[in-house]
Amino acid sequence: EYFKLMVKVAKKLGADEKTAEEELLKAFQFETTLANYTLPPEQRRNFSMLYNKYTAKQLKELVPEIDWLRYFNGLLNEVVTEDETAIVAVPSYLVKLGKLISNTDKRTIANYLVWRMVMESIPFLSKDWRNEMQEYKEALSGQSVEKPRWQTCLSYLSSYLIVPLSSYYVKNYFKEESKRAAEEMVDYVLKEFLKILESVDWMDAETKKQAIDKATTITAYVGYPEQIMDDELVSKLYAKLKLKEKAYLENVLRMTKFEVDEALDRLKEPIIKGDWKDHGMSAMVNAFNGLLDNSIEIPAGILQNIFFNKDRPNYMNFGAIGFIIGHEVTHGFDDTGRQFDKDGMNKNWWGATTDEHFKEKAQCIIDQYSSYEVKEIGMNVNGLKTQSENIADNGAAKEAYRAYQAWVKDHGEEPRLPGLKYNQNQLFWLSSANVWCEKYKPAGLKLKVLTDFHSPGEFRVIGTFSNTPEFSRDFQCPVGSPMNPDHKCIVW
Ligand SMILES: [Zn+2]
Repeated sequence: EYFKLMVKVAKKLGADEKTAEEELLKAFQFETTLANYTLPPEQRRNFSMLYNKYTAKQLKELVPEIDWLRYFNGLLNEVVTEDETAIVAVPSYLVKLGKLISNTDKRTIANYLVWRMVMESIPFLSKDWRNEMQEYKEALSGQSVEKPRWQTCLSYLSSYLIVPLSSYYVKNYFKEESKRAAEEMVDYVLKEFLKILESVDWMDAETKKQAIDKATTITAYVGYPEQIMDDELVSKLYAKLKLKEKAYLENVLRMTKFEVDEALDRLKEPIIKGDWKDHGMSAMVNAFNGLLDNSIEIPAGILQNIFFNKDRPNYMNFGAIGFIIGHEVTHGFDDTGRQFDKDGMNKNWWGATTDEHFKEKAQCIIDQYSSYEVKEIGMNVNGLKTQSENIADNGAAKEAYRAYQAWVKDHGEEPRLPGLKYNQNQLFWLSSANVWCEKYKPAGLKLKVLTDFHSPGEFRVIGTFSNTPEFSRDFQCPVGSPMNPDHKCIVW
């Protein structure tokens, strides 16, 4: 379908069909080869292996086919000399790339580059162009009709102009009391995570001390930074961005260039921990863990809807947003998060034996999730690729559940929901599972299993809950039943 799309678009641009087929086949093969050179995500989990310092001079020795100084100097606004260092994630990729480039004729490379530019632009062109892409999109994700225009526009707004959008959202829709309530939940969840750390029996004293140190120094960004309420500050951020009326594609190109320029300009700037500009995506319906500054972020955008409402019972809130908070906290201690210390440095602070224990526990999770078959598409979950997310989910359920119990101790028991036969603890689990309810076309589900670091929602729930004894106790699942197996995987 992808190749078909290439030819269709070239034809529409005026190319002769036969020439387009011949020439673009080479470009297609070039792109496929490149894709095969990239390291799959499951092999990109060790951060010290992805941190390789090279000076421009050494890069030239590694990959002589590319004129690195010319490349860097063309890209950056300042002069780069051969002593300049760069971090190369996967040196072997560059070596292969260099060879491929020198063995491919220039025309093919140019066709590939132009094709990428054209393809990225199609979503911003008129309907007849977008229609050309429809078949390809349907094959890829199962999406048979184009998304409503407003959704598409909003998603571009939130990716390119997220800070002003967040400012508008917070000013008009966010309730201050949600921020306070969420901060209280963060406290409860963090406390439970600390208790778990203190009680685990497989860590040596020194590693445990470091882990507790890391957990107690987590910075939580909840809601939004004060600065996004200041229009002048927000405008200053975008001073260099000039947009035009009625120029959709051109504006997108300008915004992309603006983003790249900003990123390149910051390359040499010192990192300021807690800089509000890095935490201004407050309208996002998402949450984050910052490995490089040992932080978690719970933006205003997620403190609503199914995740949170201060006017509903807190078992529903702890089950939903409490779980998300626990998930982000635990990310700092999953198989990748644990490679960073309390200051966000990529440093090994694990004792050798404890390190072995962790790996065994993580392997249990990998095997468990790999055994899940996604029946609709006849594929299994990739347990290796999704392990960080699964470890985070498993910690999250336990932490959020215990946090709620502690909250009840402090504030008293809450009423049940009228008309339902479930008790408070059962409703905690239902509210938690509800967050991961989703619907996919088979092609979309396949794409998710192949590319997403998260397991499909169904297995996020089944995998996590079946590892958590509190769940089977609350629903009286007999020992040995699917949701209460004898053998449970527990990392945290
Ligand atoms: Zn996650």
